[in-house]
Amino acid sequence: MRTDTSMQIYDLKKTIDLNIASQEMFELMHKLYPICRSITGNGFRDTLKIIREYVPLKVHEIPTGTKVFDWTVPKEWNINDAYVKNSKGERVIDFRKSNLHIMGYSVPVQDRMPLSELKKHLHTLPDHPDWIPYRTSYYRDDWGFCLSHNEMHKFEEDTYEVFIDSSLEDGHLTYGEYFIKGESEQEILLSCHACHPSLCNDNVAGMALTSLLGKYLNQLTLRYSCRILFIPGTIGSITWLSLNEATARNIKHGLVVTCVGDPGMSTYKRSRTGYAEIDSVVEHVLEHSGSPYRVVDFSPYGYDERQYCSPGFNLPVGCLQRTPHGEYPEYHTSADNFDFVRPEYLADSFSKYLSVLNILENNKVYLNTNPKCEPQLGKRGLYTTTGGKSHTVADQMALLWTLNLSDGQHNLLDVAEKSGIWFDDIYEASRALLRTGLLEESLCGK
Ligand code: ZN
Repeated sequence: MRTDTSMQIYDLKKTIDLNIASQEMFELMHKLYPICRSITGNGFRDTLKIIREYVPLKVHEIPTGTKVFDWTVPKEWNINDAYVKNSKGERVIDFRKSNLHIMGYSVPVQDRMPLSELKKHLHTLPDHPDWIPYRTSYYRDDWGFCLSHNEMHKFEEDTYEVFIDSSLEDGHLTYGEYFIKGESEQEILLSCHACHPSLCNDNVAGMALTSLLGKYLNQLTLRYSCRILFIPGTIGSITWLSLNEATARNIKHGLVVTCVGDPGMSTYKRSRTGYAEIDSVVEHVLEHSGSPYRVVDFSPYGYDERQYCSPGFNLPVGCLQRTPHGEYPEYHTSADNFDFVRPEYLADSFSKYLSVLNILENNKVYLNTNPKCEPQLGKRGLYTTTGGKSHTVADQMALLWTLNLSDGQHNLLDVAEKSGIWFDDIYEASRALLRTGLLEESLCGK
C-alpha cells in the first residue's frame, strides 16, 4: 500500500502548501458531514469507506455482546427515516432535513399521541432557540427528537404521528485502523472519534485532519511506527485497548484529535503524567507558534484520552485541540457547522500537528565529536565572516547551543528548550554539524 520514498517529515513540512491541504480537508469534511453516524451502524461504515480514499484503513467488526473490560459491545443501531407529522400530514420534524433531529440510538416507534405526550420526548435549547441540540441514548432504550426551541413553540394541540424507522439489533461495532511501519516498533498513536453525526468541529474536522495526516505519513520514511484509529468515542477506545493490550505497550507518544477547526486558541490537554515527551513537544510547538494558546493538565473527562490514560494503561497520550468540548456554545448543536469551522483554523491545527510529528521524529540525542573547547566553525563554512550573509547570528546561536549540549545527555528538544530557539532551527543546526562531522548520533540515547 505504501509508495517507496525517502522523504522525511521535515521535508514535507517545508514544502507543503497549507492552503491546498486545508482545501483538501474541507472537501473531505463536506463528504463526511451529511452522514448520520453513531457509535455503531452503517453511518460509521460509510464514513470509513470515504476515509479509505485517503488512508488504506483496515476495517474491524466486533460483534455485539463482546466483553471489553467492564463494558459490552452494544447492539448495532441503524436508521432509515424518522418524522413527527401533525394531523394535516405535514412533517413537523423531519430526519431527512437534519440527522440531528433524531436522538441517537432511538428505538423504533410507530404511534400517535397528544402534544403533552410528545413533548416528553422533545429536546430543545431554550438559550439558543434557533439551534438543534445533539442528543443520544446509547445505553438506555428510549426515543426522542431534537429541534429548535422556536420550532417547538409553533406546535399546537393536536394528535401527532410519531414514526421512527430504526433498528437496534445484534450486529457489530465497527472501527478503522491503519498501521504504518517505521524503523522502530515504538509507535505514535493518532486517535480520532468518528461517531458523531452532522457536527463539524466535533468531529468531522478531526476526521479530516487525521485522514490527511495519514495520507501524508503513508508517503514518508518514518522513525516511529504510526497507528491511526477511527473509532466510536469511549466504547471504541475501550474495545481497541481490550483487544490490543500487548500492542498498546508500544505506544510511545499519542494524541487524540478533535475540535481542530474552530476560531478559538489551541489548547493542549496533557497526558496523565504531565511530563511525557509528547507533553514537552506540544508545549514547545505552541510556545513558538506566535499565537495565544492554553495548556491544561489531564483530567479524567473529555474524549478517548480518558481510556488511554486510565491507570491500567497510563499511556503518554494528550489531546491537541482548539476550544475544548463544552466550552463553546455551538458544541453538540446544529451551530457546529461550516459557519463555525473555517479552513484557516483547520490549516493552523494541521500545521501544528505536523510540527509535533516532526519534533517527535527528529528528537534525537547527539554527541559533539570535538567537545574540548569550541571547534573552529569558520574553517568549516559554519561561521559568519564580516559581511558574510550565509549565516545569521541566530544560526550561530543554534550551532553553539547544539554543540554545547550534544553531550549524550540532552536531546534536540532539550537544546531547543534551554536555548529558547525554535526546534526547527536547532534541527537545521544539527544537520549542518552532522554534515561537517562535528556531531554524531548517540546510540545510547538520553
Ligand atoms: Zn462530542
